[in-house]
Amino acid sequence: YYEQIQHSERLKTTGQLAAAVAHEIRNPLTVVKGFLQLFEQDSSFSDERKGHFTLMIDELNTAEQVISQFLSIAKPDKENVTENVDVNTVLQSVTDLLHSYGLLHDNRIELKVTGDCTISANTIEFKQLLINIIKNAIEASTIGDLVLVTAGREKGFVVIQVIDHGRGMSEAEVASLGTPFYSLKSKGTGLGMMICFNIVEKFKGTIDIHSSIGHGTTVTIRFPFSNPS
Ligand code: ADP
Ligand code: MG
Repeated sequence: YYEQIQHSERLKTTGQLAAAVAHEIRNPLTVVKGFLQLFEQDSSFSDERKGHFTLMIDELNTAEQVISQFLSIAKPDKENVTENVDVNTVLQSVTDLLHSYGLLHDNRIELKVTGDCTISANTIEFKQLLINIIKNAIEASTIGDLVLVTAGREKGFVVIQVIDHGRGMSEAEVASLGTPFYSLKSKGTGLGMMICFNIVEKFKGTIDIHSSIGHGTTVTIRFPFSNPS
């Protein structure tokens, strides 16, 4: 028991340290990016040079993304209260968010929610879980493909499914999910699924992934149903 406490204390300190380091790295990156953006608009530079600035900004954006994802894992627990979360409301806001960031490209996303679905979790983390999974579904799909998101109750559980008809994964690829920095995308961080697994575990849920190359992927998430208060 004592060892357990020590272990969680250590995790907390590591988390806080990670958050501090991430902040310290992010600030200088923002300054450098700001100057590069000015140079990019400056007519005294040749087009070739401006192209280099664009590349540099792109790379800085990737670094920023890695840090943001890292920061969100590193956040100390006390900020993340457990509350009753209405799955329907969160799903709607996640779809709106993906639309407003233009991340949905030309994919259609369909929401199907049956009955009231309340779980005990943290809204921000639950949102992040859904965003990561739906983004992956969209990124695996071809333009015009439908991504279906369903939610409903099954016995004592709320079941959420994200179904895509994209490229799919082999068994080995599915087994690699959640490994830090595992990514097959040129601009991927490979942190998305690791964060998802952490969030699901934290709120006593489960996640199952069924995939078949060329046919698509179905991600099934289950959380214990919580009585709305
Ligand atoms: P990232 O999206 O930054 O690459 P993730 O942890 O979110 O990192 O995903 C890791 C890898 O798993 C992806 O690069 C992709 O190869 C694969 N993957 C995840 N979700 C899907 C999906 N729905 N369809 C096909 N491949 C997927
Ligand atoms: Mg991802």
